[in-house]
Amino acid sequence: MKRIFALAFWTLLTAITPLLGQTTQVIAHRGFWLTAGSAQNSLAALTKADSIHCYGSEFDVWLTADDQLVVNHDGLFKGVHIEQATAAVCTAIRLDNGESLPTLSQYFDRARRLGTRLILELKPHKNARRETQAIELITALVRQYGYEQRVEYISFSLHAVQEFIRLAPEGTPVYYLNGDLPPQILKAIGCAGPDYHYQVFKQHPEWIEESHRLGMKVNAWTVNEAGDMQWLIDRGVDFITTNHPVRLQQLLQKP
Ligand code: MG
Repeated sequence: MKRIFALAFWTLLTAITPLLGQTTQVIAHRGFWLTAGSAQNSLAALTKADSIHCYGSEFDVWLTADDQLVVNHDGLFKGVHIEQATAAVCTAIRLDNGESLPTLSQYFDRARRLGTRLILELKPHKNARRETQAIELITALVRQYGYEQRVEYISFSLHAVQEFIRLAPEGTPVYYLNGDLPPQILKAIGCAGPDYHYQVFKQHPEWIEESHRLGMKVNAWTVNEAGDMQWLIDRGVDFITTNHPVRLQQLLQKP
């Protein structure tokens, strides 16, 4: 019942957002973690991003040495090399809020009772083969959970971006993070658009309009200062990824 209510609320929110003239959407970077009881990439961060109605909650995924998917940002975290360690070793790590480092399945389980979109970043791995293997497992898990319409993929690895495009259902948004390719190239690859550091757009403001002209969306990361947020909002950027989602929401609510 709770789930149905949450989904109904999200559907309503999505429906009225364009009517309010609101175009820029808020993505919580590594979840909403700058708040009590949270930590980067924790289940709490995902839940809290949802509780403040973020469009999406971003998180980072690694493939462990024994081919399990776990959620964490740093490749070397609390003394453990995530890619070289087993899932048992990785998930024994305590996050700063006391949670265990989550597996991707645990993340997806938690998402069942939430409505926020899942912005899944695959970290660049030691070689292309491992990235492909990770993406095969990720897309299979997404299928298993029925999240095909709810997940968006991002990566700094061009190989990973191309593999997500190849292996995810057609139309699944896949964004490239590395900031070095112009919109026309991203379009040719089949990307949903650039998801670049905001300084890249300050150097290439024309890339925002070019992306839109090509039918793509634009995301900027990791934007934490109100002045930078406003600069991007004024230029019609579609998504802003931030460590301060509440600050961005307050800015967007200003008339
Ligand atoms: Mg990330």
